[in-house]
This record gives sequence, structure tokens and C-alpha cells, in this order.
Amino acid sequence: MGEIYTTTRCSKCNGSGDMDCPNCNGTGYNPYGGQCHRCYGEGTVTCDRCGGSGTVRKD
Ligand SMILES: [Zn+2]
Ligand SMILES: [Zn+2]
Repeated sequence: MGEIYTTTRCSKCNGSGDMDCPNCNGTGYNPYGGQCHRCYGEGTVTCDRCGGSGTVRKD
């Protein structure tokens, strides 16, 4: 008998699994010029709270 885990939508990415890149604020470009090295110009990165699943365990 395993525990039943209750999950809730991740508030950090609003359930999308992606969030605005904190390095470039979602612009995709480095503030000092050039493409952002963290999101590679995408503007979004995988949410570090839910790991891209869009849901987190509810405590
Ligand atoms: Zn970025
Ligand atoms: Zn998330």
C-alpha cells in the first residue's frame, strides 16, 4: 500500500512546466548583448520548482 500523493498545479510556472528565464527576464537575450546562455534565446527555461511537470506535490 503506497501513499497517495496529492499534487497541485505549480504556482511558479502556472502549470506550464516552463517559466521566464531568470537570467534574461524572458527576453532570450543577455542584458549585456548576445543570446542568453541559459535559455539559448528561448526566453523560457524548465521550471526549477516542478522540473517541467507542471505539478508539484502538495504538502
Ligand atoms: Zn534567458
Ligand atoms: Zn513549475
